[in-house]
Amino acid sequence: MGDKSASKRIMGAAGVPLVPGYHGDRQDIDFLKAEAEKIGYPILIKPTHGGGGKGMRIVQSPDDFVDSFLSAQREAAASFGISTILIEKYITQPRHVEVQVFGDKHGNVIHLYERDCSVQRRHQKIIEEAPAPNVVNEFRSHLGEAAVAAAKAVGYYNAGTVEFIMDTLSSQFYFMEMNTRLQVEHPVTEMIVGQDLVEWQILVANGETLPLTQSEVPLKGHAFEARVYAENVSRGFLPATGSLHYYHPVSISPTVRVETGVKEGDTVSMHYDPMIAKLVVWGENRQAALVKLKDCLLNFQVAGLPTNIGFLHKIANHWAFEKGLVGTHFIEQFKEDLFIDSGVDIGAGTSAASKLGAAIVAACICEMDHNSYKEKFPGGDKLLSLWYANPPFRMHHSAKRLIELEWENELKGKCLELLKLAITCVSKGGYLVEFEGGDSPVMEIKVVHLGECKFIVEADGLSTHVTLARYFKDNCQHIHIWHGQHHHNYQEPVTLDRSNDDASDHKPSFQTASHPKGSVLAPMAGLVVKVLLENGAKVEEGQPILVLEAMKMEHVVKSPRAGYIEGLHIASGQQVFDTSVLFTVKD
Ligand code: ADP
Ligand code: MG
Repeated sequence: MGDKSASKRIMGAAGVPLVPGYHGDRQDIDFLKAEAEKIGYPILIKPTHGGGGKGMRIVQSPDDFVDSFLSAQREAAASFGISTILIEKYITQPRHVEVQVFGDKHGNVIHLYERDCSVQRRHQKIIEEAPAPNVVNEFRSHLGEAAVAAAKAVGYYNAGTVEFIMDTLSSQFYFMEMNTRLQVEHPVTEMIVGQDLVEWQILVANGETLPLTQSEVPLKGHAFEARVYAENVSRGFLPATGSLHYYHPVSISPTVRVETGVKEGDTVSMHYDPMIAKLVVWGENRQAALVKLKDCLLNFQVAGLPTNIGFLHKIANHWAFEKGLVGTHFIEQFKEDLFIDSGVDIGAGTSAASKLGAAIVAACICEMDHNSYKEKFPGGDKLLSLWYANPPFRMHHSAKRLIELEWENELKGKCLELLKLAITCVSKGGYLVEFEGGDSPVMEIKVVHLGECKFIVEADGLSTHVTLARYFKDNCQHIHIWHGQHHHNYQEPVTLDRSNDDASDHKPSFQTASHPKGSVLAPMAGLVVKVLLENGAKVEEGQPILVLEAMKMEHVVKSPRAGYIEGLHIASGQQVFDTSVLFTVKD
């Protein structure tokens, strides 16, 4: 089954529907080009021994065939050691629907319904669900029967997945490949059939018969899985590395599973897949499960490295996803909705939500400072503590404190926007927050510190639960806040002397590295697999300079502008970090 061509030939013989295509042994270009003509463009070229979308090429017209064929062959040989390819009709509006099958050593094979795994980025799944939405029962049984026929055709036992591609225009489905293992997304199936598939695998390996017959397999409710990754969504979903300074996944229950192998303080390194956790939820029906998914994503708190949690939440909230109008082009199709900040933009691009977040952060920091002052000096005047703040300030008999925060606008590639706030303490736990510059109204904020990083905050009359996570990284203090529907990151600029700060144990040296003009930094940590040019080489804007690989992904680093390469001291086989200077482009 690892050979996509051979498996297609077997499936075709067993009567399983196939995407029209050529999957024979002949590999000469002219012959394949003629086959492509017969299938009709657009067509898809796939390495027969591929995986993870590598080496796949969509070909729109005969003029592009030869180039695409040769580059697919090259990539297949480099990645999989086998350069054979197959060609098939490219389905323009597909869904990825797969069926969980199970066989035992006595010739019994059953299916456990299907999963829709259409929502993908970089040809990899990020949200899966079972059963597939907007599918009628008749279609469901045909799909299940085809999958069982596929597994029987190869005498399969153990857990397996038969992947189909569904053409949403014709509602036809076709066999794509069979994965002979338990897959990442198997929990959604477990949730709707109420079975433990790993237990089944052990039973089958032990020579026992399957615990259920086909007619005994229940189908109850609906389940989603969201894959939480360390990645830079705004930078083309590039894998991210770093430390999990704060890691609080949601609480588990019979209907909420969090499958994770990390804990707070752990590092996501470049050596493995950047997945942090699988969040799996179950509900009585799709709507109930979706409500739970959104709620869990809102409360899944990770700080220290970039994650896709906010992006997953946006997908779950999108009207088309709510209607189950999924497809493999979902993210591309709705990119305008998915890549914008949900807050309303005011002023210089800083959203209302991020300003509110900053105001709450400032009030919470003041409240914590007050409380720690009271602990140090019991009976002391609360307001006096503000004299210990930096810089201290007093006006109209009330203490005023200035706090500067830089908002990390993730959607603009972590661009920093400076916010200057003046905070006045008006009563126990009560603050007035003003923004310097602009004409934002004064905000009235009341804070109750529940302990550790939890607060209840009333801002302009609206009460919300707030979580604050603070840590030092790259010589500055990072503050993450979760409030209502929002999660924002801020940094405190390094010019302030924070000697009174709680975190002064880790007092930073405030030496930020500055790089020479024209420096190109590694976009992710990884292994240099290829260096294409040497120092002194003349380059055009966008010209590939070197290739990085990390976490199952290749990334080509290109020249940001025209010029000459300098300071390139990296050789293939070398590890780099995501702040390493790779080279400089000089005029
Ligand atoms: P892999 O081994 O990389 O998983 P697959 O054959 O399963 O390769 O294809 C991966 C993804 O590529 C599918 O999930 C689907 O999104 C897309 N794809 C595969 N075949 C086609 C096709 N014929 N038309 C359109 N998209 C396809
Ligand atoms: Mg696949």
